[in-house]
Amino acid sequence: MHAGLHGDKGKPGFVVLGYQTTIREKLEFSGVGVHSGQEVMMSLLPADADTGIVFNVSSPDNPYDSVDLPANLSSVGATDLCTVLGSLSGPHAATIEHLMAALRALNVDNVIVELEGREVPVMDGSSIVFVEAIQSVGLTSLAAPRCYIRVNKPVRVEMGASWGEFVPYEGTRFEVEIDFDCEAIGRQKFASDITEDVFCKELSRARTFGFMKDVERLWAAGFALGSSLENSVVIGDDNRIINPEGLRYKDEFVRHKTLDAIGDLALAGAPILGCYRSYRGGHKLNAMVLQALLSDRDAFDFVQPPKSRPRIMHGELVAVNAPAYAAVLV
Ligand SMILES: [Zn+2]
Repeated sequence: MHAGLHGDKGKPGFVVLGYQTTIREKLEFSGVGVHSGQEVMMSLLPADADTGIVFNVSSPDNPYDSVDLPANLSSVGATDLCTVLGSLSGPHAATIEHLMAALRALNVDNVIVELEGREVPVMDGSSIVFVEAIQSVGLTSLAAPRCYIRVNKPVRVEMGASWGEFVPYEGTRFEVEIDFDCEAIGRQKFASDITEDVFCKELSRARTFGFMKDVERLWAAGFALGSSLENSVVIGDDNRIINPEGLRYKDEFVRHKTLDAIGDLALAGAPILGCYRSYRGGHKLNAMVLQALLSDRDAFDFVQPPKSRPRIMHGELVAVNAPAYAAVLV
């Protein structure tokens, strides 16, 4: 690799930010949980370097009795319809992925997420409310270096007709493909390097989606109780989109799946330098591929930019030891 300085002409390249960040001010959200149907209050609080993203979960009846769940892979309890930290039978934080995607894409490394309830509010079903709120207060840099996870060799997981893999790549790239046996969705692919700008413009407004034919089964199982046309794209039994406003992007479905993947892979605890590809993936596959990467110590390194150049493009990165806040399974 060639050392490059910012101001490099030619290929725009990726920027490695040298220092960890947090948000400048507290942010508050309230809304319904898409699965629980319960009203929840959520606050994002600025946090010190090396905290990572930590969910502090309490019940609305007893806000002083709370449990900390670090947002990393070892805390994941379920990945069936959404990504859950903690066990569903105890204190947990469900549907964390749209918030996690916004935090990762906006380069927020450290935040305490206070949740009075068991599920992140779904807002409009996308990440845009979180993105706009974080951008409205801005970030502050902390006096501690940021670590990246650099993919060194391909790692692949296959699950039935689905597969997902990491491959080495200079930058952060997602290539997500879906293939639904349903005319309204069909086969869609989104492939792009992911920067804050790309995330905000191309992905952050893509909403979660579901099928009318699944609704009664989900309700009976206690899921999707808060789901509505205000927070989901719904495909009817006649294969049409029920939402009167239609889609926000022509291929909103695959864009939402990409947003989900960004949120799920944020459970690495550090930004990933590599390309993630998936075909017919979902939360479970995303978690399995991340686990396969992090449990193969030859497959990745923790790296930092050199101290002399905290903000570099195409830079030489220095291997370092695992930071305490990152999820490592070895
Ligand atoms: Zn989602």
